[in-house]
Amino acid sequence: MESLETELERARALSVEEIADRIETIGFECTHCGACCRSEENCGGEDDQTPHTATVFPDEIRQIQSREEYDWRDVARPMPYGIVDEAGETFEWALQTDSCGDCTFYEENGGEGGCSIHGDRPLICQTYPFSLDSVSPDTADGLGTTEPMGGVVEREGIVRAHECEGLGRDISRADAEALAKTLKKRAVRELTEAIDVRDNYEPADSDGVVVHDSEGTKRPDGTPL
Ligand code: SF4
Repeated sequence: MESLETELERARALSVEEIADRIETIGFECTHCGACCRSEENCGGEDDQTPHTATVFPDEIRQIQSREEYDWRDVARPMPYGIVDEAGETFEWALQTDSCGDCTFYEENGGEGGCSIHGDRPLICQTYPFSLDSVSPDTADGLGTTEPMGGVVEREGIVRAHECEGLGRDISRADAEALAKTLKKRAVRELTEAIDVRDNYEPADSDGVVVHDSEGTKRPDGTPL
């Protein structure tokens, strides 16, 4: 398996033009359906509904916090993997959810979904439904990122397309290039984050929930442990 440093080198060398070509081939236009911002089952009263889960990095959390003087926990929750009965160690943070399991920043107006923090939404939201293959850390080792919705439904070269009703629609060259540029930025960001998580990792000696991120070890309220 390649080192994260090698993957980072490769991500930095990616061609935005080539990524844009692939996005154009797949096609995409946001329909504002809101599916990528909501829990899969939404508020239907099911006890076992799966809440919306999308990775948000520490600096992105602080950027969102600064909009409204949000508390850390208004913005993010510990990534749920590895946590049982409100105890355990986990890697990274997920966008906070409301009582329906939807992203807490999702709002609906006149039948259309929208993001109340659009200008500061995390990179993962800016690039959905696309991600890049072979330059993203492996989610299984705890260093990867979690997409807000289902699995990969299409691939074109290194571009992966995830479940989304807007796929297959025409996209302008300018929009494809802008998206490609952000996808490359995200790939580099994910890898630098993963390297810092790895380098700052120390097994936690504490009860309750412990979160490891690129800045070290934290409590669920974002304070250092
Ligand atoms: S931050 Fe905005 S774009 Fe991202 S999941 Fe939440 S509502 Fe959707």
